Amino acid sequence: MKRNLLLTPGPTQVPPQLCAALGRPIIHHRTPLFQQYLKEATEGLQYVLQTKNDVYLMASSGTGAMEASVCSLLSPGDRAITVEGGKFGERWTELCQAYGINAEVVKVEWGKAVTADTIKGLLDKDKSIKAVFVTQSETSTGVTTDIAALGKVVAATNAVLVVDAVSGLGVEDLQTDNWAVDVVASASHKGLMLPPGVGFVSVSKKAQALMEKSTCPKYYFDLRKYKKAAGKTDTPFTPAIGIVIALVESLKMVKEAGLENLLQHYKRLAVATREAAKALGLALYADPACISNNLTAIRIPDGVDGGKVVKIMRDTHGISIAGGQGDLKGKIIRIAHMGCLDEYDILAGISCLEKTLKELGHKFTLGAGVAAAQKSLNP
Ligand code: PMP
Repeated sequence: MKRNLLLTPGPTQVPPQLCAALGRPIIHHRTPLFQQYLKEATEGLQYVLQTKNDVYLMASSGTGAMEASVCSLLSPGDRAITVEGGKFGERWTELCQAYGINAEVVKVEWGKAVTADTIKGLLDKDKSIKAVFVTQSETSTGVTTDIAALGKVVAATNAVLVVDAVSGLGVEDLQTDNWAVDVVASASHKGLMLPPGVGFVSVSKKAQALMEKSTCPKYYFDLRKYKKAAGKTDTPFTPAIGIVIALVESLKMVKEAGLENLLQHYKRLAVATREAAKALGLALYADPACISNNLTAIRIPDGVDGGKVVKIMRDTHGISIAGGQGDLKGKIIRIAHMGCLDEYDILAGISCLEKTLKELGHKFTLGAGVAAAQKSLNP
């Protein structure tokens, strides 16, 4: 029988305790019991987000939380900056376009991160810019942006900083309050180890002031509705009740493990994966200066089809990784280290990658990747 190991950048593995929580009988949401769950989920998210800002939960995937941020903060014709260094940065631009926002697109070479100086230059030049939209961990390239540096630059202006932390949250450090991040958009199915279904945003007072003036047409994703309901420990619409209940358990697990320890854990897995790739003669895609800890993008050697690597690992061996997106289709593979994974899951993934690459004709010493990862994990 094949296993089903998810080394994918979302959805991630759901641990048995959370599967059990997801199986609890459904309750009605306009009840004191659900209010208690909602309160605990909100407080737990504030812990992971390292913020005292309001956090609003909605029934959506991560893109819903991103869309809510765009349409609730801005008005048609407003100026904004979007940073495009991969597929998910492009999504900010597409969302802005959908709502008639006049976005200045900062194109960043894939595999690299935007610098705070670039953003400062644009903000200095155009004081009418109301928001800067950026991706913390760009899942298509394995790059993490220095959000602390951007926070310093944006906080000195009237603009708000909006961060997509859909794949980074709970895996990479995100000090929302210390770094002056106004809005963070994220979701349940990556670092928080749950199925997709809950999207959420944290919103600073500076961003809430923008919300009051926004004239974008919207209904379900109008954050003013979520704010009003949150004031009564409620949600404006039927929430994803079962996932919110399991989220309380997930956040307890995170708190018990300790956020700082978890960040170190994922870094350790990421470093081991990078060492394994190098030992197999494979190059890393991201610039080492901004390489992320939540997923490793690995270049596939010429003559080997990256799509085949993914397919064989999944269909023959039961281990799912991700392939390249857009222009990187077939050229890279992406191994995630987020959610409920330990070192033995990573070692299994590397071992399976070796077997698959051997089959596809790549030349290396079998076991070299596993040995390098073991050495990195046990120095
Ligand atoms: N942003 C990032 C960085 C992501 O990794 C993803 C999901 N892969 C999204 C946004 C979109 O999230 P969803 O698919 O949950 O809408």
